[in-house]
Amino acid sequence: MYPSIIIDLKKFRKNVQVLRDQCHKRDVKMMAVTKVFCADHKLVKILNEEKVDYIADSRIQNLKEISTDIPKVLLRIPSHGEIEDVIQYSDISLNSELSTIELLNSESHKYGTKHGIILMIDLGDLREGIFDENEVYNVVKRVLELPHIELRGIGTNLTCYGGVIPSIDNMNQLLKYKQNIEEKFDISLEIVSGGNSSSIDMLLEDKIPSGINNLRLGESLVLGRETAYGNYIDGTYNDVFCLEADIIELKVKPTVPIGQIGMDAFGKVPTFEDKGNRLRAILAVGKQDVDHRELIPFDTIKPIGSSSDHIIVDATEGHNIYEVGGMMLFRLTYSSILSLMTSKYVTRYYDE
Ligand SMILES: *Cc1c(COP(=O)(O)O)cnc(C)c1O
Repeated sequence: MYPSIIIDLKKFRKNVQVLRDQCHKRDVKMMAVTKVFCADHKLVKILNEEKVDYIADSRIQNLKEISTDIPKVLLRIPSHGEIEDVIQYSDISLNSELSTIELLNSESHKYGTKHGIILMIDLGDLREGIFDENEVYNVVKRVLELPHIELRGIGTNLTCYGGVIPSIDNMNQLLKYKQNIEEKFDISLEIVSGGNSSSIDMLLEDKIPSGINNLRLGESLVLGRETAYGNYIDGTYNDVFCLEADIIELKVKPTVPIGQIGMDAFGKVPTFEDKGNRLRAILAVGKQDVDHRELIPFDTIKPIGSSSDHIIVDATEGHNIYEVGGMMLFRLTYSSILSLMTSKYVTRYYDE
């Protein structure tokens, strides 16, 4: 069935191995992040076999589906409506709100367990994390009084909302927090989680200050690249995931629509540049599955537009011979993998 997302399991395994080994070589533990592929079972199986240190996802529904002996981490700050699931299906969660941590404590008490937390500190990217220094110490003080919560460490998230790149400076700020917390409360913090795939450049350049001992990696595992500068990582693959969609119409048509132009299917008024007659293919996949601008053709063809269920591709300059009933193949980006894996209309094929 098409459209299909083709997943190369050997290539994924290689990416996992390369990144895990690069982390371990530097005494950094790896949290393998599964959200972009919706914790697909075959990919999670590889994470199990390759013995990553943690399996992490932002959705508790995904963690619920994962069976593993590896500790499971909830990346998104828990919502008050999912506390029971968080206690049942994750070992550790990232947190920044005391009221939430208190709920986790009482729920853990009911289950007779202890829940681990990593306290998130916002160093300027302005997504999650405590921003005010005094608040950090006040929250730690209170957390240490909660009998069913174990403060496993601290962490920060960068290059997500604000695009702030990890640096020696902001990594040292995180380490300073660790030192201050340890001294003020006479405890030792096991985990200092220094970020996501945007920290890999620093990792590979051996610029991550020692003491940062954990990274949470998602995009780099699936696309073989770091996300601070977009560089590919030696020894990894960028085509673990590909989209194959079938051609349902192939005709030569003008580039400019004929008639008075009003709104398109999504309420926007489109504009067109006249390039004369072009060979246009319609693919049986649409906005409901993926944004056509996030498809990277292997051939010199170009996705030029889409509606809910159709993507139009200019195939005039293609080298391959296309025909109705045939296929077009694309490499993918982070956001196109995310949306295709989430669409129930897309079939998953595994290259074993
Ligand atoms: C998604 C996510 C990650 C993984 O980020 P990548 O850029 O895909 O490596 C790490 N930490 C948190 C909190 C996340 O939500």
